[in-house]
Amino acid sequence: MQTPIDMSQEQTPAGTDRRRYRIATIDGDGIGPEVCQSAVAVLREACGSGWLDFEALDGGAGQYTRTGEVLPAATETVCRSADAILHGAAGLPGVTYADGTEVGNDLHLMLRSRLDLYANVRPIKLYPGVDGPLKRWSPGQIDYVIVRENTEGLYASRGAGINLRGEVVTDSLVMTRKGVERVARFSFALSRQRNGAPRDGKRRLTVCDKANILRSYAFFRAVTTEVSAEFSDVELDYAYADAITVHMLRKPDFYDIIVAENMFGDIISDLGAGTIGGLGMAPSAEVGDQYGLFQGAHGSAPDIAGQDAANPFATILSGVMMLRWLAQQHADPRLLAAADRIDAAVAQVLEDGRSVPRDIGGTARCSEVTHAVCRALK
Ligand code: ATP
Repeated sequence: MQTPIDMSQEQTPAGTDRRRYRIATIDGDGIGPEVCQSAVAVLREACGSGWLDFEALDGGAGQYTRTGEVLPAATETVCRSADAILHGAAGLPGVTYADGTEVGNDLHLMLRSRLDLYANVRPIKLYPGVDGPLKRWSPGQIDYVIVRENTEGLYASRGAGINLRGEVVTDSLVMTRKGVERVARFSFALSRQRNGAPRDGKRRLTVCDKANILRSYAFFRAVTTEVSAEFSDVELDYAYADAITVHMLRKPDFYDIIVAENMFGDIISDLGAGTIGGLGMAPSAEVGDQYGLFQGAHGSAPDIAGQDAANPFATILSGVMMLRWLAQQHADPRLLAAADRIDAAVAQVLEDGRSVPRDIGGTARCSEVTHAVCRALK
């Protein structure tokens, strides 16, 4: 998905070069509007006016406080008919349900389950010029992908746990054979599109679980192992969720693809983001068999919202993933070329060092970073 995809001319149907794509955009809350509009500006610059049509939609915690709906029906309808969905972030502190959980998260949680976006793809890639905390490692040495199962696991219990008299509380971890098989297959297939782990060039799928403790995780490991028989060219590796947090710091070059249950994937992908400069550098694609939603791996960062201080790279790189996914869906090489150009422009701006956002050690505002990427594209 985020690596070169075989896009030979023969695969391109006649007329593809005239095709336009409808992109549903949901700015959301906090820094959501800033980073989403930054990505839209960069995508427009890279694709010109001719291929992408953006349709701005309501949704998020602010929308909920105004109307009582976090995901309006009209937004869901457009998302279903669009070619892809680009999202900033959602959630506002204090906007919670009676049970204490945050309203804003429901925007993407509802879209994940209703559009069956079962694979949450989170690349962990160190870009040049980024002053990451792992000083031993250079760009090219940290380049792997975490695939987070996105529709099951512990988070499938959201809104359905039990709170008995305020004394006993439960949430259940849910796994299905279909759910594990499809995310495992997706992860093995993704490894085939890449060049293997930086350390040794081997295609490798690491299953991150706690199979030693819970039956559900033993099931996740067993079913993934069964699926591995279809992918004998990809090495199978196992790691417990606690131990992998150390491995990701000490031997990040060993990893190619890591597949994990929903909550574990959520946690380890934030750790992975930390190793490459932070949440502002971590893009994400949530895809199923039909739909794709693209947003940075971070939340709405209310502490810096409205200050033009956000790092837009996570959302810009999510836009790159969107173009690559669309290119694959529609066999359209123009999109792949535009994705490569944006990726190169991001690397150029970071390496140049004059427009580096604040969270990774620079002083540039969100708008300055956006302009710098657009300039690099010209
Ligand atoms: P969620 O649970 O919705 O993912 P969160 O509560 O974990 O969100 P974030 O909103 O991601 O938290 O923010 C965590 C910290 O990271 C905040 O201090 C925030 O300022 C910082 N942060 C997150 N995204 C960015 C960004 N794009 N640019 C700069 N700082 C960011």
